[in-house]
Amino acid sequence: MKILILGVNGFIGSHLTDRILRDTSWEIYGMDLGSHKVAEHLDNPRFHFVEGDISISKEWIEYHVKKCDVVLPLVAIATPKVYVTDPLRVFELDFEENLRIIRQCVKYKKRVVFPSTSEVYGMCEDSEFDEENSPLVTGPVPMNRWIYSTSKQLLDRVIWAYGFQQGLAFTLFRPFNFMGPKLDSLNTAKEGSSRLVTQFAWNLFNGEPLNLVDGGVAHRCFCDIEDALDGLMAIIGNEGGKADGKIFNIGNPGNDASVREIAEMMIEIWKEHPFRKERGIAEGSVVETSSGDFYGKGYQDVMRRTPSIKRLQETFGYSPKIGIQESLRRTIDFFIEEHKALEKVVETEA
Ligand code: UDP
Repeated sequence: MKILILGVNGFIGSHLTDRILRDTSWEIYGMDLGSHKVAEHLDNPRFHFVEGDISISKEWIEYHVKKCDVVLPLVAIATPKVYVTDPLRVFELDFEENLRIIRQCVKYKKRVVFPSTSEVYGMCEDSEFDEENSPLVTGPVPMNRWIYSTSKQLLDRVIWAYGFQQGLAFTLFRPFNFMGPKLDSLNTAKEGSSRLVTQFAWNLFNGEPLNLVDGGVAHRCFCDIEDALDGLMAIIGNEGGKADGKIFNIGNPGNDASVREIAEMMIEIWKEHPFRKERGIAEGSVVETSSGDFYGKGYQDVMRRTPSIKRLQETFGYSPKIGIQESLRRTIDFFIEEHKALEKVVETEA
């Protein structure tokens, strides 16, 4: 099987590449702006990487949609800070650029496995979000935060309609706060525009307090990337066509924690960490901040986000196992290595 992965050097794309090359005989054609997260595979004859921007390298993409069996368009901005500060960029990349690729999948009759998002459920009040039954609840238009949710939601609906009316083969998957090594980059945290765990790691490394937005009472369910990949690999493998025309949440409802609890767990790990002790960096502390100060006024939060994983469990035997503590430890260790590498770059440039 030949797979086209756009955004192959991202968090999900790079882990997917590791898995595919390790566990299958599939071939990957991948494009991204850079290749540092997949560097170890660049010499693998089953990995064909091209550096490029999906909004520019259009011919390469069309040619490879035609050539491959399955398409994974993983390129998207997925950080709340950017939804609030640059909603048009989110719309243009996450919606417009991806719509073009979806239409090519229709044209060349290729299967698309599309990353929807847990964010589509928005402020839904269901205790567990169900893929086909939960309402998708977003806020008013002046709240820029919802541009990501609604861009993804409309693409979900367009893909569904192409399946319904023109026979497009597709599966939608919805990641629920995946974490693990290679999550984001510390550089984005430096600018204050990263996701929770990355942002907190950056704060810890710099001896800064962790910001609890609006008291840190919002909850998320965190899913280790290795568990997530078990689910995603089963979906791509699509044994017996069981994923066709379906939507699957991928997450771990057992790993529910508030932002404050995540901060406490990270501080706990950090306090004892040899790297912190060696460097004599502060043990870590928290400070409360308002969402208006932290994100700007177009922000609204999701207070609870719990996936139902019944569908993925029943269809493919999905059963996430890795706890938050272990996942946080691995993620922090990865960031420490990245932090050291960044320090080296600064030293060389100085
Ligand atoms: N958050 C926080 N401090 C930070 C970064 C994020 O309190 O430094 C909160 C944010 O308000 C939200 C949660 O952490 O309640 C998760 O935010 P994230 O950026 O990971 O994205 P989301 O899960 O909302 O898509």
